[in-house]
Amino acid sequence: MVRIYSEREFTGIRKACEILPKAFRLVAPSVQPGVSTAELNRIVDSFIRSQGAVPSFIGVPGPQGVPPFPACCCISVNDEVVHGIPGARLLQEGDMVKIDVGTRLDGFFGDSARSFAVGQVSQERQRLMRATEESLFLGIAAARAGNRIGDIGAAVQGHVEPQGYSVVREMVGHGVGGAVHEAPEVPNYGRAGHGLRLRPGMCLALEPMINAGGWRIRVLKDGWTVATTDGSDSAHFEHQIRITDGDPEIMTLD
Ligand code: MG
Ligand code: MG
Repeated sequence: MVRIYSEREFTGIRKACEILPKAFRLVAPSVQPGVSTAELNRIVDSFIRSQGAVPSFIGVPGPQGVPPFPACCCISVNDEVVHGIPGARLLQEGDMVKIDVGTRLDGFFGDSARSFAVGQVSQERQRLMRATEESLFLGIAAARAGNRIGDIGAAVQGHVEPQGYSVVREMVGHGVGGAVHEAPEVPNYGRAGHGLRLRPGMCLALEPMINAGGWRIRVLKDGWTVATTDGSDSAHFEHQIRITDGDPEIMTLD
């Protein structure tokens, strides 16, 4: 069931979302060579709590036999795509790091992710990050009432594949608002004009995960971290949006 949220509910969802761009702005100056991913997690975690919200990824159940997710942020470096667990790893000059964060406030949920350059990164990594963020905004532009889910994926895929990149298949965007993950799934690939029709009041997280090499992924030994199978780089950007009668509202921008 795809939820249609009321104006009053969007007021609550907006409050949960508004914390996220502020958290990214706060943590960005600390994304430097020599910082641990645990430290970045700590900065974001304490800011979210200072806003009266709770990090929503902590305790998300893992696959069979894997402990629940232990941290506020998913922090994934270079060939890691998503779901990296913050820890002692120190970022190095030239790394590309993805921070994905969720909030819960008064029963409403926000979800957003960004890719950051650590110091000077290569032209190739800059190009991958730029193409991924551009594909997110093209997906958002396609997310209009009357269009279909496939229009979003087609917009993302149509931007990145001609540049030689690939779209992760197994991991997709999703509904969000009253829970961390809700229906529908929002793939970053697809056929224009196909899939569920978008309606005003839907609340979606669009989150292209774009690989410099092939689209295949694998899960590392920790049971959580998803990485590219071929070791190529991956970038990730995510915004939470509201489908309206006109332009979509991007709820995780300030
Ligand atoms: Mg996310
Ligand atoms: Mg998400």
